[in-house]
Amino acid sequence: MKSLIKTSLATALLAFQLNGAYWQQEVRYHIEVTLIDSNQTLTASEKLTYFNNSPDTLDGIWMHLWPNGYRNDKTALAQERMQEKHTRFINTSEAKRGWMDLGDVTADSVSILWRAKGDSIDIVWFELPEALVPGDSVLLDIPFQVKLPKLNSRLGYVGEHFEITQWYPKPAVYDATGWHPMPYRNWGEFYSEWGEFTVAITLPENYIVAATGELQTPSEKLLLDSLAIFGNSLLDSLEKNEGRKKPEPDTLNVLSKAKTPKSSSTTKTIIFNQKRIHDFAWVADKQFLVTHTTTTSVDSNRAPIDLWNFVLPKNFGTYRHGLKALKSAIDSCSAWFMPYPYAQCTVVDGDISAGGGMEYPMLTIINAVGWGELMDLTIFHEVAHNWFYGLAGFNERRFPWMDEGFTTYAEKRFTLAPKDSSEEDNEPAILKYLPFLNLNLMYDAPLYTAFLNNTDQPPNLPSDQFVGINYRYMVYDKPSVATMMLQHRVGQARMDEAWHDFFRQWAYKHPQPEDVRLSLETSLGMNLDWFFDGFIASRAKMDYGIGKVKSSPDDPSGWRTNLKLTNHGELTAPVPIVFRGVAENQIKTVWIDSVGTSQMLSVQTPFKPKSVVLDPDAQTLDMNRVNDGSGVHLKFIISDNFLNRGHGYTIRWLPGVWWNQRDGVLPAFWILHRKLDDPILQWRLSSQYGTKTKSWYESLSVKRRLDLAGVTQSFISARWMNNWYAPLVGFQSELTWQDPAVSHQTKVNVGLLYQDIKLEALTREFFDTRVWNAGKVVKLKFNIHQQKKQLDKTRSTDFGMIAGMASPASNSGISPNATPALRSGTTFLRWDASSHWQRKFSDRVKLNWNLFSAVVLGTTPLQERIYLSSSVDPNLESPLLLTRSGDHWLSPNDGLYLEQPVNIPGYGLAQSANAMVSAVSLIGTSLDINLGMPLKFLIAGGVGKATTSADWQAVGSFSPYLDLGPIPLQFVFPVAWLEDGKLTGGFQFQLNLKQHFTLNLGG
Ligand SMILES: [Zn+2]
Repeated sequence: MKSLIKTSLATALLAFQLNGAYWQQEVRYHIEVTLIDSNQTLTASEKLTYFNNSPDTLDGIWMHLWPNGYRNDKTALAQERMQEKHTRFINTSEAKRGWMDLGDVTADSVSILWRAKGDSIDIVWFELPEALVPGDSVLLDIPFQVKLPKLNSRLGYVGEHFEITQWYPKPAVYDATGWHPMPYRNWGEFYSEWGEFTVAITLPENYIVAATGELQTPSEKLLLDSLAIFGNSLLDSLEKNEGRKKPEPDTLNVLSKAKTPKSSSTTKTIIFNQKRIHDFAWVADKQFLVTHTTTTSVDSNRAPIDLWNFVLPKNFGTYRHGLKALKSAIDSCSAWFMPYPYAQCTVVDGDISAGGGMEYPMLTIINAVGWGELMDLTIFHEVAHNWFYGLAGFNERRFPWMDEGFTTYAEKRFTLAPKDSSEEDNEPAILKYLPFLNLNLMYDAPLYTAFLNNTDQPPNLPSDQFVGINYRYMVYDKPSVATMMLQHRVGQARMDEAWHDFFRQWAYKHPQPEDVRLSLETSLGMNLDWFFDGFIASRAKMDYGIGKVKSSPDDPSGWRTNLKLTNHGELTAPVPIVFRGVAENQIKTVWIDSVGTSQMLSVQTPFKPKSVVLDPDAQTLDMNRVNDGSGVHLKFIISDNFLNRGHGYTIRWLPGVWWNQRDGVLPAFWILHRKLDDPILQWRLSSQYGTKTKSWYESLSVKRRLDLAGVTQSFISARWMNNWYAPLVGFQSELTWQDPAVSHQTKVNVGLLYQDIKLEALTREFFDTRVWNAGKVVKLKFNIHQQKKQLDKTRSTDFGMIAGMASPASNSGISPNATPALRSGTTFLRWDASSHWQRKFSDRVKLNWNLFSAVVLGTTPLQERIYLSSSVDPNLESPLLLTRSGDHWLSPNDGLYLEQPVNIPGYGLAQSANAMVSAVSLIGTSLDINLGMPLKFLIAGGVGKATTSADWQAVGSFSPYLDLGPIPLQFVFPVAWLEDGKLTGGFQFQLNLKQHFTLNLGG
């Protein structure tokens, strides 16, 4: 019923709109601009005819003077960059700032007054001398000057390379909901009026210009043609070299190293014109290499479309597939959405910092991605914006999900489409190099992680309301997956029809989300509440389950299957049910559009179904795959990331071989059931064998999600570890409260642990006897962690408490006197509190400051005491793969810098008996200085007591260390001042394998 009403309402609304209710303003620009490259300025005159097609009389016009965003520290851009501690902006000298000044502005030849919108000097109100009545137009004459900033967002220069974007006085959009003035921002895009642009650019003769629009100047066309002959021949020679390990052509090397030529003293003027666009951008450089091709597949009745790449010589190799990627995008999107209507499309190699690239009509500026294969996808994405932004002029600032979501859908559609083997070149190159990558999952896995962590946000928020990486997950990924899901539901042909209808109706206009919805619902004849109200406007999750399945022969020749579908989720959305028989071709797919709480289904098939599975190809946003089918699925994995989600019960297995000095080679084997397989219950079983010690190490952990009201995430877990030196069994529960909007997190952990460190392990030096006691320990742990994250700083506090009982190790024929075994039973209590500040001072400079204090009461096993270095890891949570003796360079115990609260180096250097290795009381502080270079510094100091009766002693240390970024290897050169006043130094290096090889449950 609901859907019936919706459809008739949709038809009524559509008729209403076709009757002329929709209107939009129109602009006609005539800009003459001169680039004075020596002082990075533009001098220009803009004649702008503004047509008021609205039913309202306008007293004035809101205008954007976006170059003023770079003017001072008070603009929206500056505020945003300050929050990010983007010092390239903040520390920009006056000379490298940017601004826009207007001359005497007239409206129909009468001087006008204008004023800034409050503090926003990049938005001004042009007071019209005479009100602009509906249907009338006004000619604004705006002389202006722009001082170009040094490039740090989208507009500016680098050396003698100029990117001229968001650069001219431009009216804000006036639409049915009123004015939309918006300050310039780096995060968050734009919304512009449609019209015609004629731009005459004057600049030194030896610049090469890539721009929006059709080039009107014959001499410049000839120049580009001759440049393209040279560029294409370079491309050919590169292609011939591809596959061989030969250096790039000599010419390219020479060109890459060539000095920027002096600017000509003579200038040239080149003219571009284009109708039906909403922005104009251009890029000028004296060293561009130009390549060119055409495409005719868009519309055979039209002249071929010119496709251009303008590339700096140093990046030419990276762009080797650039023309192909550009052609793929133009051809594919033309077929899917609407034929590309313009005469040319250009990809230009830029230096902007707005992500991988930035889209302008007919012109795409790509930031050097550095990796050719990724570059192809970036080019495809940015060129596809010519449809979702270029032709459908969305309000990107208010609804970033529309342009980015639909464009990512196009990108995804391209990467996932089965490729014709005869057209091998069309395949995204990334797949050739990394065939194991499941691209479907590249889009989905992070998104599901956000869902599972309960940190997602609804995609329909304005661009400034997304927290951190959610801008990627919610604006790009979720809408693209949902759109792809719609395409799977209706089939590619109907989806294409629907897009064609949409673009027929909305190209060159300003469609709002409700317009997209109405258009798609009308074309598809389908209610899309689940898409727009469900996936786009809410955080509601989808989860269907399949119940009892029963098949029986059905006269005359088929089979009938009765099954029960259950909706465990928060919304109802389409889902496919796939029936398969024994033979390959026995397959039937039935889509169910909505399921109430539960529903019985009866489906006839011409074959006997062998399996019945919900959404086997992961085409929907179904959260839990365990209840989607029957049977167990085994999957081989090579990495913890990039995993596809299977249906039914998926068990993954992973073999491995490790080595450590103690055990020698360790063949290892994991089987696991991960969070992406099953959001509720996960487990992991591992087994390793030390060939040198002939020891087996096994472990099992199980984790179950609890759904507690008011708690963001909660779970209980249990683990068991069986090996000859330290059997362990433990239980833990963890509750997390997190507000994604303010990045505030509180975590409470309670755990119970039993551990038995064997005396034998100590005598065989498996554990370092300076920091371990043999014996049995039972302990109850409590920890509360609070964290507040902002763009430039993170503050966290921890409070922990451990109450425990220990008893001596059993003597298995080894003299306990020779080893530090606990001699008698004991109880102990330990508490610690720490505060941690992390502060970003600039793009590169970061500071970490820790304050830590801890006290232990009672006779405590050594491993539970407080350490001046990182920590001993009494819970054996560091990788088991490595030796624990502390004598060897690959020991986790040697870690001078683990992310633990203490972080005070000292242990490891303190070889003498008197040196304070561990403490019963400690107050310490440490400072970790990251100046943005591989060389970092850790300064630490504190006072502690080695035993309850001892005096307070001081320790301090200074450790420069080399941190090699993505390689988790740190070289540490600690210098420590010990309590006896001696100075000691050393060298260690540490491979911090934890984040790479620990198979975190649900990671
Ligand atoms: Zn994009």
